[in-house]
Amino acid sequence: MIDLNSGSGYAYGGVPARMATAAFVNGLVDRALEGERAAAGCRDYLGASRVGEPCARRLCYEVAGTPEDDGARPGGRLLRTFEAGHVFEDLSIRWLRAAGFDLRTRKRNGEQFGFSTADGRIRGHIDGVIVNGPDLGLPWPLLWEHKSASAKSWTDFVKHGVKVWRPLYYAQVQLYMAYMELEHCLFTAVNKDTLELHHELIAFDPAAAQALSDRAVAVIRSVEARELLPRIADDPDHHCCRFCPYRVRCHHLDGGVA
Ligand code: SF4
Repeated sequence: MIDLNSGSGYAYGGVPARMATAAFVNGLVDRALEGERAAAGCRDYLGASRVGEPCARRLCYEVAGTPEDDGARPGGRLLRTFEAGHVFEDLSIRWLRAAGFDLRTRKRNGEQFGFSTADGRIRGHIDGVIVNGPDLGLPWPLLWEHKSASAKSWTDFVKHGVKVWRPLYYAQVQLYMAYMELEHCLFTAVNKDTLELHHELIAFDPAAAQALSDRAVAVIRSVEARELLPRIADDPDHHCCRFCPYRVRCHHLDGGVA
């Protein structure tokens, strides 16, 4: 029975009708996004943004297209978070251009700039290149990489710098600079809660880039040989494993094979 007098929409004995409506609509949205992701399929190449992942075995699973454990696929809420990152990126592009930076993000045909090597098994798509602008004390062009982060995470970035804050991102820009033949990167991160911006100049580190490139090749070779590189840990409760989508398979937690 609905309390029509209060106008609250409350259904006695059940969840409030307005909450049920929200849950119903959100369920539709989540299922639509999850369906889109499933239809897109998985990559059959190693993205440069993933090479700095701490666990080489996880990279093998990803490149081989190994199905994630049951229930471990990203749900609609996380997919919305990923997509919102693109919206923040578009805002940062507009703001930097307004400030006088000649930031190029697409080729004339609309494609992203990027690279492909090892017969297409290793690829990267960059956020952009700044070809001119206000004097930063460095020669143009600069690689441009963008991330959005929650307030707490963004504060850690400001305090510690990219290399300590997110070694994965540091590895990503080193590989991009290596393959795009750029010597510096302007790394921009926006605070999603306050819209504060922070920027860091990162220099190309040839030794780090070479080690990452060697790692990428080792992953591709092992996948082609249908082998797995070593786990980062034998303990399924290791901090890298706790949220890994291959945890059950990798550690034989269901008695199966890796
Ligand atoms: S469960 Fe741990 S060891 Fe296995 S792939 Fe994932 S991160 Fe690596």
